[in-house]
Amino acid sequence: MRKTTLALIAALLASPAWSETLISNVNGIQVGPDGQLQHFGALLIDDNGRVESVIKMPTPRVKRYDQLIDGQGRTVLPGMIDGHGHVIDLGFAALRLDVTGTASLAEFQQRLRAYAASHPQAKWILGFGWNQELWREKRFPTAADLDAVVPDRPVVLERVDGHAIVVNGAAMKAAGVTAATPAPHGGEIHDGVFVDAARQLIDKAIPAPTPAEIDQALAKSQAILLGVGVTGVGSMSTSLADWAAFRRAGEAGRLSVRLMAYITAAQAAEANMRPTGWLYGDRLRAVGVKLFADGALGSRGAWLKQPYADKPDSQGLQFHPDAEMLALADQAASRGFQIATHAIGDAANAQIISVYEQLSKKYGRDRRWRIEHFQIADPADIPRLAPAGIIASMQPTHQTSDRLMAEARLGPNRLAGAYAWQSVLKSGARLAFGTDFPVESPNPFPGLSAAISRQDVNGQPPGGWIPSERLTFEQALQAYTRGAAYAGFAEDKIGALEPGKYADFIIIDRDPTKVDAQSLAKTQVLETWVAGKKVFSRASTTPERGQ
Ligand SMILES: [Zn+2]
Repeated sequence: MRKTTLALIAALLASPAWSETLISNVNGIQVGPDGQLQHFGALLIDDNGRVESVIKMPTPRVKRYDQLIDGQGRTVLPGMIDGHGHVIDLGFAALRLDVTGTASLAEFQQRLRAYAASHPQAKWILGFGWNQELWREKRFPTAADLDAVVPDRPVVLERVDGHAIVVNGAAMKAAGVTAATPAPHGGEIHDGVFVDAARQLIDKAIPAPTPAEIDQALAKSQAILLGVGVTGVGSMSTSLADWAAFRRAGEAGRLSVRLMAYITAAQAAEANMRPTGWLYGDRLRAVGVKLFADGALGSRGAWLKQPYADKPDSQGLQFHPDAEMLALADQAASRGFQIATHAIGDAANAQIISVYEQLSKKYGRDRRWRIEHFQIADPADIPRLAPAGIIASMQPTHQTSDRLMAEARLGPNRLAGAYAWQSVLKSGARLAFGTDFPVESPNPFPGLSAAISRQDVNGQPPGGWIPSERLTFEQALQAYTRGAAYAGFAEDKIGALEPGKYADFIIIDRDPTKVDAQSLAKTQVLETWVAGKKVFSRASTTPERGQ
């Protein structure tokens, strides 16, 4: 204690301007450099928004500070870092018309009417989520049903499964489609409903978003992220248009969330782009490129070593021959980029591990080769990660969303390396957590809950799915903070509240170490702070302490 106080006094004396903020009386919890939980009672923040000291006692005798904030005993964690998310997509998903859960055609039309009225500037109305099976009428919507509500501008609404859209007359006119247009091979058209391959006829006519619309999506996305306590993101598959929007926001001081951007590899190569250093007060950095080794498990696009249990004539999709995969990664690495490669199936994971093993010999070990998802691994390949310095960037809520599908695709005997978080850590490899938003909710707390329980938010299945792969709370929190920061070459700035790192932290409504997994999943973020400034506050909060 005396040591801390002396260090504090020394720091205060060294500081020319007395503009510190003391946040006192908090139940602070984080993971220390040793991987163990660390508790603290107060934080002293300097005028650059960095942590000056982390203080054990809640009411320290700090003599000088400009601002004192009483944390009222509430729980503080470091800001959560989502290692893998799609920032602009999250914003667009939230800005589109949502017709999920409608119980009738009339309710569906009512939502469209309300959205059209509140978005007079939208040239096209895009939305998603209808399911005629849930409607009283049990029939597909038609172009005429939409024209009755919005006749004057194009409307395109996607079915809940993403395989069909219903469009109005204005959309068909804009796409140059008439009643006489034949459906392409693999598609169908009926009364304004375009199924599978026929979607292309309409989709290609939808204008690309304007820079102003991308800016709006970014603002919306940041608001969502800060509201669930996410202060840093590995921004995956960042297009050059997204990157330009990030830069505009940075120039204008509108970036709150820190973005570690992974540029779409083809676009980075085309533009001859190189990595950047940190920009805009360490809010933005182009750190890597994103590559793909295979598709997804649900659509049987994941590339497997053995055939699918539920489709014995298929092993999925290999996106690149070995030599081509190596060349793609090598090209990007030679321009100084970190490489993040999507790999879901065990064959795709084995391929990219081999590529990284070769590149780690060429470039040295600390290139932090990333595998995104690492969902289905051959247990024999997991020990190959650590020696080549490969990071497994995984998403715990994929496990809870996918488990029944994974069982169907793989059968009961090939699940040993599925979503195998504990095996990854036991092998000595680094783990970074995230959500893949908007595929999953960006809220990290259901992810922390799944990580410690292998159960969904309803507690299913009892005892957890392959419970030997559960993590401890500190392991899970580490993967969401220090682990995700390390995976983005940002551990010197974020991921822990330590002197010299940014005061990016959240105040939450319960102590995550004192609740069960289902309560942990329901944690609410009360406040989010970035660089010592409050950037989100939940309206009319009633703190539910000690629940
Ligand atoms: Zn993704």
